[in-house]
Amino acid sequence: MEKRDYYEVLEVAKNASADEIKKAYRKKAIQYHPDKNPGDKEAEEKFKEAAEAYEVLSDPDKRSRYDQFGHQGVGGAAGGGGFGAGGMSMEDIFSHFGDIFGGGFGGFSGFGGSSGGGRRQHVNRGSDLRVKVKLTLKEIATGVEKKIKVPKYVSCSYCKGTGAENGTAYTTCTTCNGSGVVTRVQQSFLGPMQTTTTCPTCNGEGRIITKKCPHCNGEGIRREEEVITLNIPAGVAEGMQLTMSGKGNAARHGGINGDLLVVIEEEKHPDLIRDENDLIYNLMLDFTTAALGGSVEVPTIDGKAKVKIEAGTQPGKVLRLRGKGLPSVNRYGVGDLLVNVTVYVPENLSADEKKTIEGFRNSGNFTPSLSVKNRIFSKLRHMFE
Ligand SMILES: [Zn+2]
Ligand SMILES: [Zn+2]
Repeated sequence: MEKRDYYEVLEVAKNASADEIKKAYRKKAIQYHPDKNPGDKEAEEKFKEAAEAYEVLSDPDKRSRYDQFGHQGVGGAAGGGGFGAGGMSMEDIFSHFGDIFGGGFGGFSGFGGSSGGGRRQHVNRGSDLRVKVKLTLKEIATGVEKKIKVPKYVSCSYCKGTGAENGTAYTTCTTCNGSGVVTRVQQSFLGPMQTTTTCPTCNGEGRIITKKCPHCNGEGIRREEEVITLNIPAGVAEGMQLTMSGKGNAARHGGINGDLLVVIEEEKHPDLIRDENDLIYNLMLDFTTAALGGSVEVPTIDGKAKVKIEAGTQPGKVLRLRGKGLPSVNRYGVGDLLVNVTVYVPENLSADEKKTIEGFRNSGNFTPSLSVKNRIFSKLRHMFE
């Protein structure tokens, strides 16, 4: 299914303020909340869709990347090309509810919530990793699959990430009975007040390791090199960052993985200069072809193209080869190849050549009249307007 525009999902304007976005999301979250729509798959999808839109639009950095690059820029590759295709889990969604509903709204009772209510166990999250990938213009033109080796923390296979020997040598924390939180009731002049904090005995994990896994020293993670396949979409640009969710470092004791951030670097092409989705080639045309016309070959991303030169081609002329540029990362069309013409005036001439050209010195055809000047300059001016 084609991904919908995030602004459309939340029904807000492109220039909506942070507050408007928050309000719009709150409305959608209440409308499609799974507790209100039990068993309704469509409502659940809408609920998740709204959460994803809010996740991006509420973060100024992600929002600006989304505005520039669309779903590709924030890890929502429409074609399921590998970047963050998984979307958000219900856990992720409810973890945001505190700031949306001020804590009063609670979580969701029926969806794998380990502690059942609004409060849930502390979950460790692995750190994000950042890698740079260098691409040629040719690779950018088509999109490319790259396999890269990433040294990172991965979940320890001997203890299944728990840090406990064989994955079993732990007991439930007796301080919090496995909930990861402790609740205290204090008397205040307003009546009894309940405060909930992370359990200090188990640091919120709900269990205590009785014997450490010897392979990871009880951490649940080990340093390894992982080969990761990146499906880089066509049209990416220098400095653009793609997010592969869950491909970063594993967390201690079996938490949530961090993300892998892939920063794009562009290799310089020997002949072509990139200008957004257009490419520029500076063509130095020989004087004879400029005067008599002919055809020349210009380099393109994937080879060469023949370009017809009309007789009397002036320096400064720009020839446009439609569709020979780069595709837009948002898939809105393809750029052009612009051929900037300069004309080479010979620097060294033989005696014979000098004599021949000298014969044209007083020819009216070799000297531009005022009307010719006006025509050519106005044409050149148009190209820059
Ligand atoms: Zn281990
Ligand atoms: Zn505890």
